[in-house]
Amino acid sequence: MNRRELLLSAALAGLTGPLRSVAHSDETKVPTSTHEDEVLWTRRVPVKWDVDIAIIGAGMAGISAALSAARSGMRVLLVERFAIAGGMLTTGGVSNFCGEMTGQGEVFDAIVEALHAWNAIGHERPSVFHYEILAIVLQELLLKRSVKVLFHTSFVDAREQDGRVTEIILRSKSGPEAVRARLFIDCTGDADLARALNFSVFKGRAADGLQLPMSMMYFVRHVTGTPPVPRAPEGWFKRLENETDLPMTSVWPDGPDGNAIKIKIPMYDATDTESLTAAEIQGRRRMCEVMDYHQRVEGKPWMLDHCSPTIGIREGARIEGDYVLQVDDLRAGRTFDDGIARGTFYLDGHKPDDDKRTYILPQDELEVPPYQIPLRSLIARDGKNLLMAGRCFSCDQLALSSARVSTTCSMMGQAAGITAALAVQQGCDVRDVAPAEVRRIVLERGAILDV
Ligand SMILES: Cc1cc2nc3c(=O)[nH]c(=O)nc-3n(C[C@H](O)[C@H](O)[C@H](O)COP(=O)(O)OP(=O)(O)OC[C@H]3O[C@@H](n4cnc5c(N)ncnc54)[C@H](O)[C@@H]3O)c2cc1C
Repeated sequence: MNRRELLLSAALAGLTGPLRSVAHSDETKVPTSTHEDEVLWTRRVPVKWDVDIAIIGAGMAGISAALSAARSGMRVLLVERFAIAGGMLTTGGVSNFCGEMTGQGEVFDAIVEALHAWNAIGHERPSVFHYEILAIVLQELLLKRSVKVLFHTSFVDAREQDGRVTEIILRSKSGPEAVRARLFIDCTGDADLARALNFSVFKGRAADGLQLPMSMMYFVRHVTGTPPVPRAPEGWFKRLENETDLPMTSVWPDGPDGNAIKIKIPMYDATDTESLTAAEIQGRRRMCEVMDYHQRVEGKPWMLDHCSPTIGIREGARIEGDYVLQVDDLRAGRTFDDGIARGTFYLDGHKPDDDKRTYILPQDELEVPPYQIPLRSLIARDGKNLLMAGRCFSCDQLALSSARVSTTCSMMGQAAGITAALAVQQGCDVRDVAPAEVRRIVLERGAILDV
């Protein structure tokens, strides 16, 4: 085995460590790969799709962008690496909307209306929904508006000329394929398209790049009687004895006989494969420890039902836009001439280097008034036809801690879809679209921008 293979097998065995050690973690750490060889990889790839607008990432932002662009009459391709739509809300098991649920625009309204029609929202709280049903709702809405959806398809690379993205390269079971489009929207949460082109991006805390912590979501069923319940055998994981040993743990009802549980997993990098792999492994390890604590120490009649398919990621990388939204804009409840979305959630910024319930700011500084998001923070500074929406829009880390919630991501996505459609219709660069025209359509489609 060469050094790289050794490191890879160490990572797969769960040995690769986080960015830095956390006091609560008992992981064995080995250095991440430092292999620096390069190979040149060239290959002719068929242009399989030629569309008006290509969107990468079918989370709340990408779906909202796709649905709004399609409503404007565009031919839209939506690319998603996983098998279902919804992003963090489904694959991350989030299953709850934060922020105001009215006045987000017709896309969000259509999603909530469909969830109500399915009787799949509002049982425990008005904002809590059944996430498997959300996945169905989203795919059907996309198909109704004739969005071409590709699941199991990853964005890999992009071609660019003078700041204009010309094609993107996808990888799927069909092999590598290219997509040509007039406009591209990066909704990956991790700025994958922008990073592939070396466009300017930000990551994490300004001082050290540490991202907002991840969390693992898992779901337990209540066991009646005494059926055999799967439990971690002695010696597999650390036994936690006291509540103080637990990471930040949030417990909600999940139907009449179950609970949804969220545990904090800090100090990993969502844009680094080895770190992300280690985060998933550590997330499941911590889940086993906390499960065992609840069963053994607290005597809870809980059985593991399932863990979310992917760890919950709050922050990946943010693309530098024509404007970088700052936390002070939020504190001031700022409006902009090109304001096209509105944030209504508090500064939910947990400390990046701590797995307890600790915030970056003191409790009395978390609330912010409603604020606007300018169109300029959805336009990639280094591109002529690249927009972004959702977790990877242009902002600082604390502004993201509020604007990352799904309602606001949907608003940003809707505005990005409208802007992209206008740019295609007018045959112009994205920054030449009149913001007043975008605002007019955003308002016409039911969004409230008043602060
Ligand atoms: C643990 C946790 C709890 C949260 N709780 C709440 C809550 O209660 N309420 C709330 O409103 N918000 C909550 N949030 C925040 C919210 O869920 C997300 O920030 C929001 O949904 C992000 O939407 P998005 O579309 O920007 O990104 P994502 O949902 O992350 O979507 C990005 C999509 O892009 C895809 N993708 C990425 N890279 C590629 C690629 N290279 N090729 C193809 N596809 C790609 C991903 O698979 C994904 O589907 C929570 C987040 C976390 C992590």
